[in-house]
Amino acid sequence: DKKKPMVVYKKPIDFTKIEAKLLPTVMIIGRPNVGKSALYNRLIRRREALVYNTPDDHVTRDIREGIAKLGDLRFNVLDSAGIETEVSSGTILGRTTSMTANVLARTQFAVLIIDVRAGLHPLDLEVGKWLRKHAPQIKPIVVMNKSESIGESLAEVASEALALGFGEPTAISAETGLGMTALYEVLHPLLEDYMVQTLNDRCSQDDVTSEENLSEEDESKLPLQLAIVGRPNVGKSTLLNALLEEERVLVGPEAGLTRDAVRVQFEFQGRTVYMVDTAGWLERTERDKGPASLSIMQSRKSLMRAHIVALVLDAEEIIKSQRSMTHSEVVIARRAVEEGRGLVVIVNKMDCLRGKQNSEMYKKIKEAVPIEVQTVIPQITGIPVVFISALEGRGRLQVMNEVIGTYKRWCSRLSTGRLNRWLIKVMSRHSWKDFASQPKIKFFTQVKARPPTFVAFLTGKTQLLESDIRFLTKSLKDDFDLGGTPIRIIQRSVL
Ligand code: GDP
Ligand code: GDP
Repeated sequence: DKKKPMVVYKKPIDFTKIEAKLLPTVMIIGRPNVGKSALYNRLIRRREALVYNTPDDHVTRDIREGIAKLGDLRFNVLDSAGIETEVSSGTILGRTTSMTANVLARTQFAVLIIDVRAGLHPLDLEVGKWLRKHAPQIKPIVVMNKSESIGESLAEVASEALALGFGEPTAISAETGLGMTALYEVLHPLLEDYMVQTLNDRCSQDDVTSEENLSEEDESKLPLQLAIVGRPNVGKSTLLNALLEEERVLVGPEAGLTRDAVRVQFEFQGRTVYMVDTAGWLERTERDKGPASLSIMQSRKSLMRAHIVALVLDAEEIIKSQRSMTHSEVVIARRAVEEGRGLVVIVNKMDCLRGKQNSEMYKKIKEAVPIEVQTVIPQITGIPVVFISALEGRGRLQVMNEVIGTYKRWCSRLSTGRLNRWLIKVMSRHSWKDFASQPKIKFFTQVKARPPTFVAFLTGKTQLLESDIRFLTKSLKDDFDLGGTPIRIIQRSVL
């Protein structure tokens, strides 16, 4: 099936529904007798403890691995005797066995246990040192075990434990279960962030593989991922409904793995369009028209989901405030461009400006907005601006035409031959700031589409100036019709 569901993963994550192989892995480490096995057993509730016997150079060491349940949190948990041996024998601290390396490679998190009754032990510091050396990317959570009856010295050990350099320790008792909620509270946000990232990365990898090795023709026929963004109440939901009504093909919203992930899909002129990031506002009622719905769009990750970003503005607001875009709208538009997305601006609620008394306003807004939009977003040129009334269903077709047009331009591929013929003409057209030090572009080629990305090979050590890049970008846009899409130019020196 070519039509892959486009799902955006957001918090909260329901860990109970995630395949075991995708869950994060937490390793339990610590010197002997601090209670690693006790914690391990509590986390897996003495179930499905797998024992791997991995032959090592000299000895056979056991790694126990199981699925931890901590409230609604799930993760793979590892209890490794091999690591302990390496650390406690001191002499082999610097050497990581192949088995340990293997374990570290698939571990993202660690719980470092110290025994609160013994206080901070020199070997605890060795464990910390060992981890820093072999897995510097893992910042462990420090727990003080056996703290069920420790009383006042808890605070003292806690401050000693800071010497490990891994932050505040959490008091637990693996044997009695004390402190498991505290452990949950420390682990949950870390694992959840990791999970969101992993799930979304997996999606984009799928996108990349399915989009590889396609001709330009095929590429622009791939499902288009469209994000409709804007401040609350500008009419995003109304517009979406108008678009869907037109086509009468609504699939979804389907609940994804996470409670917030929603996909809406429709066909437009035989092309599949996925609406990205509708979860935040699609089902929203009057209840929460707060600023939160904009912040959803502000996350870089969600803009990454989209190919084309349609930014909706409110004509009434523009008239009232006498400016086309508010600060937050500019921020979102710029971010979309920085992320390499195509941009279409939609001015909604034009019906409010109907009638004789408004005709001047109507004319003025149509003239002024495209100019202002272009001024505040100089990073890309030729941004399409569409004037509509979502409420009356006017301008839907125009919206889709601009979205698809921008998408096609975003997918453009220009042949090297064409580009270099163009380059000769364009170089003579440009008034170079400093003719003597003018860099010579020897060769110009497109290395990537979606968005169009070019490499300029320069002779000598000179670099193109900001103004030269702007000139080239604008010329590419004008000469090859690349409006509304970011254009990237990379410089390379050839000697
Ligand atoms: P490991 O060598 O780090 O795996 O440690 P174990 O889990 O085998 O525990 C070492 C000893 O500490 C055992 O005798 C456990 O019963 C004891 N122990 C583990 N956790 C606790 C705890 O929370 N409180 C107390 N009082 N003893 C514990
Ligand atoms: P969202 O928060 O961006 O999803 O905005 P909604 O689609 O919920 O619309 C907010 C309000 O604006 C609602 O009361 C809509 O009826 C109204 N609205 C949306 N589009 C138009 C339009 O084209 N003209 C007018 N006059 N009102 C509109």
